[in-house]
Amino acid sequence: MSDKSSTISAESTDSSEGDLASARVVKVAVIGTGLAGLASAYYLSTASNPRVQYNVHLFDENSSIGFDSSSVTATDGNGIERRIDVPMRSFAGGYYKRIISLYKSLGLQFHDAKFTYSFSELAEESGDARTYFLHGGRAGSFRQGGKPSLQSRLKWTSDFVAVVFWYIYFSLIAALSTPKGSVSCENEVSHARYEAPRKKLFGNGYGTLGTDDESSIEDCNREIESLQEFARRWHIPAWFIDRFVVTLFSAMSTCDADTIRNSPAADIIDYKRKTFGQAHYLLSNNSRSAVAALTAPLAKDNIHLGVAVKAMLSEGTTWTIRTLDEDYHHFTHVILATAPSRVCELHRPLVPVFRHVEANTVKVLVHTDDRVLNFLKSEDIRDLNLLKTSDGTEATHVLFPGIYQTTSPASLNGDGGEDYGGRISKSKVISESVFERVVRTNGLVDAVAKMRRKQGQHNVWVTGSWMWDGLVLLEGCVASAEAVCDGIRRKCGDDQVALPKRVI
Ligand SMILES: Cc1cc2nc3c(=O)[nH]c(=O)nc-3n(C[C@H](O)[C@H](O)[C@H](O)COP(=O)(O)OP(=O)(O)OC[C@H]3O[C@@H](n4cnc5c(N)ncnc54)[C@H](O)[C@@H]3O)c2cc1C
Repeated sequence: MSDKSSTISAESTDSSEGDLASARVVKVAVIGTGLAGLASAYYLSTASNPRVQYNVHLFDENSSIGFDSSSVTATDGNGIERRIDVPMRSFAGGYYKRIISLYKSLGLQFHDAKFTYSFSELAEESGDARTYFLHGGRAGSFRQGGKPSLQSRLKWTSDFVAVVFWYIYFSLIAALSTPKGSVSCENEVSHARYEAPRKKLFGNGYGTLGTDDESSIEDCNREIESLQEFARRWHIPAWFIDRFVVTLFSAMSTCDADTIRNSPAADIIDYKRKTFGQAHYLLSNNSRSAVAALTAPLAKDNIHLGVAVKAMLSEGTTWTIRTLDEDYHHFTHVILATAPSRVCELHRPLVPVFRHVEANTVKVLVHTDDRVLNFLKSEDIRDLNLLKTSDGTEATHVLFPGIYQTTSPASLNGDGGEDYGGRISKSKVISESVFERVVRTNGLVDAVAKMRRKQGQHNVWVTGSWMWDGLVLLEGCVASAEAVCDGIRRKCGDDQVALPKRVI
């Protein structure tokens, strides 16, 4: 087997201030090129300085960069060619501070998507869908779906008043109350620096990097209040939580309703509080603009695509990355930027950490079948159309005229055939992608806390959208990539050199 990097040793120690040629070179392997892997590679590559240079290699089993590997190009109903991000990844002001800071620093363009929404639900017995709410997004307008008959006008009006009342009440509670056992996202910032002792959140607190105190870790999760418990504590009716909060967050997190009801209330309240009145953005030039900017500092030869890592072998103080065809030698640090299941396959000592972490498989179809929205009156169709089913929430995004992206497609009327009960014909499907998405359960909260104490042990690091104290979204990729890169720099004695400012 060849040594792909024989020209650079893992760490050469001859350093001299002010002279890049004699900087110490630290070789780092990043496995996975989703946003977490890309951000890690970017931060380290651009952190090179007169004392330490990071020679970063990226690996992905996909034949293209993972962050953009499912995206497609298609022609819309007006004959215009469109690039379509799959999945469509939006980010909101307030919550996504790190992503926005990173994208701005890279000079990427993004725009306010001005999403409008429809909410519908599937009646269990009849299988019919009923639209119960329409929302104009930041434009602020909202109304109930359907038009009331004269007889039902009173009920229609009282339902509407109830929704408005509980929405205002819920927003106030979210602004003023902190769910029990909150794991504040701000904590990630202090964690990322590894400097001051961790803020005490639960009993024994967070400890410091390298601490392996399992009993204190167990204490962390005792008081985590679920969304359901939080709603009960504040007397918010179950119908409001189910129809609005659960439906929306089960679409965002692509998981079932029960998982959202039982997930940490702190995540949802934190998101709600931070994004209130904020815009939702999309990258103007798609994910590929981010991929181009994030990989720009890396040498082309350092990006290994279509290369599935099968094992990582420790050889003294360095790591060898083994793939089917090659061995890549002499890495001082390895960053695992994959789903937890793959982390465990590659690094068995982490199996106990991630034992209780769960993940879903999520299907995303890009297609041209307008029957998918037949359950809506044409005047009720919005940009994002959510359909509450017994399994979770189907979300159909009207991307361009005649092009739809449907996530978690449902079969209506109990007909579970190949075309989703006559809703999406196979012949109209442009692409079908399946993603593994980690679910934010208490098991994950616990695993993240445990993993923090194991970061950097044997120079192995873990990052991912799920490896932080918040919803499993893009912000987690950047937050955890920052934390890992700061940890590596600290281990390399390189933390005295300031990085460009990140969060604005
Ligand atoms: C349908 C859907 C919609 C979403 N919408 C949004 C949204 O609107 N906003 C938002 O913020 N977030 C959204 N998310 C979440 C967000 O997109 C993901 O959580 C995030 O992109 C995951 O990034 P990651 O880098 O952690 O992992 P991934 O993107 O999963 O990257 C892991 C990479 O590792 C590679 N890999 C795994 N094992 C190996 C191996 N052995 N060897 C080599 N390579 C390997 C994989 O090929 C993959 O490319 C959505 C997710 C889904 C599924």
